Amino acid sequence: MIFENVQQIWQNIAAAAKKVGRSPNEVALMAVTKTRSVNEIKAVIQAGIHHIGENRVQEFQQKYTALTDITANYHLIGHLQTNKVKAALECFDWIDAVDSLRLAEAIQKQAEKLNRNIDILVEVNTSGEESKFGVLPAQTAALVEQLSVLPNLRVRGLMTIGAFVEDMEIVRQNFRQLRQLRDHIANQNWPNVDMKHLSMGMTHDYEVAIEEGATIVRVGTAIFGPRLQK
Ligand SMILES: *Cc1c(COP(=O)(O)O)cnc(C)c1O
Repeated sequence: MIFENVQQIWQNIAAAAKKVGRSPNEVALMAVTKTRSVNEIKAVIQAGIHHIGENRVQEFQQKYTALTDITANYHLIGHLQTNKVKAALECFDWIDAVDSLRLAEAIQKQAEKLNRNIDILVEVNTSGEESKFGVLPAQTAALVEQLSVLPNLRVRGLMTIGAFVEDMEIVRQNFRQLRQLRDHIANQNWPNVDMKHLSMGMTHDYEVAIEEGATIVRVGTAIFGPRLQK
């Protein structure tokens, strides 16, 4: 089923992109694999997916030992605590939910120790929901400017989770705001900042996200079926 589901989602991605005159090649499908097994991760990579998203450092650490010979871009898409930064850098290629200077500085310190660069996205709370992590839209540009001087961090764009509401027009406004922020920041031409990516859209709203400019959509349920736990 995983293979068929991925094919179907790619078709939907292409249709959504076409609707607004974008090329489907501008949109990467990330498989969100929290609660899924190593074999399920291998199956999506075999189906042609290059980006894997996991929410928790500890959960992925265990899976990663069985994936070290498998090439993919592994993204941490959940909140990262500073005391888990070291472990995160040992298994993730990207940290997609950076939302404070304090966290970024902890990542910089570890990246320097490991003598590597790390790709990051800045998570923005576009919905204003208090339960959500992310920097507020009004503070995003200032944070990115502060991150631009951290030499081992490469800011690759912004990430958001749309509001959990039925009304897709509200969700669309969240995504549109992320794109406008991205465009504003890209115009500043700060060093180490490449604002190519907008990671937005999940199973229920990825088509709207693509219409609003997403370059990465994060899909779990539509690939694997409903999650039984967590
Ligand atoms: C779980 C999760 C997803 C995927 O959600 P689905 O609704 O299963 O597609 C995407 N992004 C984040 C940050 C998540 O935690």
